[in-house]
Amino acid sequence: MLLDFGPRTLMNLVKTGVNRHRITHILFSHYHADHFSDFITYLFDEIIFAKFEGGSRPPLTVMGPPGTSRLFRTMFGLLPGFDQTPFPVRYRDLSDRAFRIGATKIIPTTVLHVPGLHCLGYRVEYQGRALAYSGDSQYCSPLVRLCGDADLALLDCSFPASRPNPVHLHAGQCGQVAREAGVGRLILSHFYPIAERYDVKAQAGEAFDGQITKAKDLLRIEL
Ligand SMILES: [Zn+2]
Ligand SMILES: [Zn+2]
Repeated sequence: MLLDFGPRTLMNLVKTGVNRHRITHILFSHYHADHFSDFITYLFDEIIFAKFEGGSRPPLTVMGPPGTSRLFRTMFGLLPGFDQTPFPVRYRDLSDRAFRIGATKIIPTTVLHVPGLHCLGYRVEYQGRALAYSGDSQYCSPLVRLCGDADLALLDCSFPASRPNPVHLHAGQCGQVAREAGVGRLILSHFYPIAERYDVKAQAGEAFDGQITKAKDLLRIEL
């Protein structure tokens, strides 16, 4: 399973050594290009793998906010090379209703990002552990609820607290969400260049006294 598929994800997947041909579900938060652009390359690669390299892979289910199915069907209807995938690809528009993938429970929750754009955060629960992922989000009560008592919250930290922006969380708000939700551990991610010039970890730490980590490519965490 994968949550979002931004630029560099395909190459990073290769570097992790996981078998990318076994991924069965991709869950998108929203369709700003930084959250899905490498899915195009990934699907193309999977088609090549199955068509010309004798590879086989399980069906792929692609899920996201309302409009997901229309977006991909339109896009892949126009781009060359995506017709007749040699394995089933299913697109599914989600509502804020929990569902299961095997033994894993997924709770999609609509969060506030850009007005008029539907963005989902996801809570993933497996064997008594919970991971909450904000997608892109402003500070909002659905986000705090999504993160409630999660073992780990992975939050959009686009901006430093001293240079806030209305459509994304800033570092101080990440700490605030983590504290209000009572999460076990906070991972800050999705840094705009301005966020790299400030100590966002310290800023989040002013509100939250649990463990805080700055995400980086290939970071591996066991829950
Ligand atoms: Zn966005
Ligand atoms: Zn983004």
